[in-house]
Amino acid sequence: MEKPTEEENSNGQVEKSGAKKKLLIVKDHKFTPIFFNQPTFCCHCKDFIWGIVGKQGLQCETCIFVIHKRCAEFVAFKCHSKDKDTNSDDSQTAHSFWIHSYTTPTFCDHCGSLLQGICSQGKQCDVCFMNVHHGCEEFVPNICGYNHTEKRGRINIEILCNDTLLSVKINEAKNLSPMDPNGLSDPYVRVKILSNNIQLEKKKTKCIKATLNPTWNETLTFNIKPENQGKTLMIEVMDLDRLTRNDFMGCFSFEISEILKDPVNGWFKLLSEREGWSFNVPCLPEGKDLTEVIEEMQRNLSLNEDLSIPATNDI
Ligand SMILES: [Zn+2]
Ligand SMILES: [Zn+2]
Ligand SMILES: [Zn+2]
Ligand SMILES: [Zn+2]
Repeated sequence: MEKPTEEENSNGQVEKSGAKKKLLIVKDHKFTPIFFNQPTFCCHCKDFIWGIVGKQGLQCETCIFVIHKRCAEFVAFKCHSKDKDTNSDDSQTAHSFWIHSYTTPTFCDHCGSLLQGICSQGKQCDVCFMNVHHGCEEFVPNICGYNHTEKRGRINIEILCNDTLLSVKINEAKNLSPMDPNGLSDPYVRVKILSNNIQLEKKKTKCIKATLNPTWNETLTFNIKPENQGKTLMIEVMDLDRLTRNDFMGCFSFEISEILKDPVNGWFKLLSEREGWSFNVPCLPEGKDLTEVIEEMQRNLSLNEDLSIPATNDI
């Protein structure tokens, strides 16, 4: 008698099914474990997938999208193929792929493996420079101009500011980058007040050992003088390293004047130093699909256009 195997849906519940393989279903993707015999990159966090110890990569059976097992729950877009009904609005955010010859080894941004050959190895979008195999193009969703990747994981914070007190509550982080040889990190959070890139004040949380999903639940407070409202609040995640310099894991920033108008509460992407010094990027709300969010935005946009510009065709 055949033993029923487990099938996990996106809520993490395990369903019994007659299927032979273990499926992880997230946003209609049907992810199955896969062993890679060549260097392959995760198309969510852009980090290398190590194939030596067990099957740590997952591939969607339908659209061949490749990710780490740990990245699966954060995939931002629904499984997509050209066979499916596509919304006519999609064309505005469709990639503009052209056959491209690469002079350096380049990996597909959809399936994570090398674009093979000497010339015309793949296709490149001339708007966002996404690279794909010829065969992968049809599975790429229409999200040109929107970055679905999360290279450094995400963090949940709450920031409140009144005239005199700024309180920064650091809740938890998820899917941080592994910094140590054991595939884990020892993360802590550093919060700084900056004025013209000069550090005025700094506070930090405790360090949580050996994890990529730390929970801090700590509140750091700063006294704010009225003249400090033009300053920047910087949040950095660092990896504690006893032997060498502590490693940078990701950051983002806010203008304190922004926070005064609008308190901050939610998940934010951890960015590179260069990006994080100038801005922040909130994560997609949980359960939301990037393609749907984009469609909604475009519907609102064209609705506003309809209101402001007379529809000449109707006359
Ligand atoms: Zn898929
Ligand atoms: Zn990944
Ligand atoms: Zn593009
Ligand atoms: Zn590919």
